[in-house]
Amino acid sequence: MTVEFISVGTEILLGNIVNTNAAYLSERCAALGLSCYHQSVVGDNEERLEDAVRLALSRSDILILSGGLGPTKDDLTKEVTAKVFGKELYEDEHTKERIKDFFRRMQSGEVTPNNWKQAMVPEGAKVIDNHNGTAPGLIIEENGKTAILLPGPPNEIRPMFEQDVAPYLDRLEPEGIYSKMVKICGIGESKAETMIADLMDSQTNPTIAPYAKTGEVHLRVTAKAADEEKAEELLKPVVDELYRRFGDKIYTTEEDVTLEASIVKILAERGLTVTTAESCTGGLLAGRLMNVPGASDVYQEGYITYANDAKERLLGVKRETLMKYGAVSCQTAHEMARGAAGTAGADAALSVTGIAGPDGGTEEKPVGLVYVGCYVKGHVHVEEFRFTGNRDKNREYAVARALTLLREELLKN
Ligand code: ATP
Ligand code: MG
Repeated sequence: MTVEFISVGTEILLGNIVNTNAAYLSERCAALGLSCYHQSVVGDNEERLEDAVRLALSRSDILILSGGLGPTKDDLTKEVTAKVFGKELYEDEHTKERIKDFFRRMQSGEVTPNNWKQAMVPEGAKVIDNHNGTAPGLIIEENGKTAILLPGPPNEIRPMFEQDVAPYLDRLEPEGIYSKMVKICGIGESKAETMIADLMDSQTNPTIAPYAKTGEVHLRVTAKAADEEKAEELLKPVVDELYRRFGDKIYTTEEDVTLEASIVKILAERGLTVTTAESCTGGLLAGRLMNVPGASDVYQEGYITYANDAKERLLGVKRETLMKYGAVSCQTAHEMARGAAGTAGADAALSVTGIAGPDGGTEEKPVGLVYVGCYVKGHVHVEEFRFTGNRDKNREYAVARALTLLREELLKN
């Protein structure tokens, strides 16, 4: 079944409010197995709204409208939709009582006469109670087409959708969407896509959709199925095939597991500790590790050593090394990693030194040149990277590559 959204409100057209309802509805409807091919935003204008409603109903099975259900004259959604369906409005006693009760609970004094406009509902419509506001939600069905009208404020639309609309849509569309997120690090986006080109070409159910993240590639494998067990039967062979192709470059198949969480888990399982020595990333790398609840089990202290003097004093980087090779060099990254592990008494250490930009680059050492060092139990491995982004991107990439390097070195051991 197909679903379409219309967000009503001139405020959205002007960019005064962000259309978070559309994002929310899209995500929820996709999870319920509905296909969405169109979404639109219409201002508080009767003619244009009517056109939009007619167009949407001509091409989609279900239309969800959000906003424009308030008590004022410019709230037109219900009137226009009822007109398109050829329905008269009548006063719904139940809704009138609920609105009275709402005002009593809010102790907001007299109900103004225009509030009774909200108790008017199209004949034959199902009413969805709003426990956080006055406007009721409405479901109008006719000739195989369904319109669902919901209020604009997110704290009203969301509970109404979860409690009443989702179960209703679930009955209309018995198949649901189930997915696995195959997360890969250490392989670039285009290489990853080439490695699965044949799978992408032949896909129907499940489908594979790639998403590029900074320094990672995520493949969302999605199956449409009647229940979780049937979905699992469809998903497993595809995920197994991806494991055959990407091996241990896959760090998780769970939506909410991050690269740093997968690393903290490996360290904790092995009883190892890690530290970081950062120059150009200035704490971003430590911050990523510290995103993980329980990181304190594996991380005790770390270093931000921007100046040469700090690299010498805190990490024991040799002055000759800095003079001879420079702060941004393979040798300095090497000594930073080993020195950090020594000072912190950690089993593993990551070091980052580089030129994030926009200034400071030379022909020999351009902006984007970054060295990442990784110490694991006595052995140091350094990698050189040449990133091409701006300052923010170069620092983010450096962090992602450092985490990937640590994971690879841990898996080697
Ligand atoms: P009300 O009874 O509050 O007037 P309504 O159903 O008429 O509700 P609108 O007047 O269109 O809804 O919007 C009310 C408020 O809801 C907006 O000011 C905005 O804060 C929020 N809102 C409306 N539409 C959206 C949207 N698409 N995404 C996020 N927030 C929205
Ligand atoms: Mg309004």
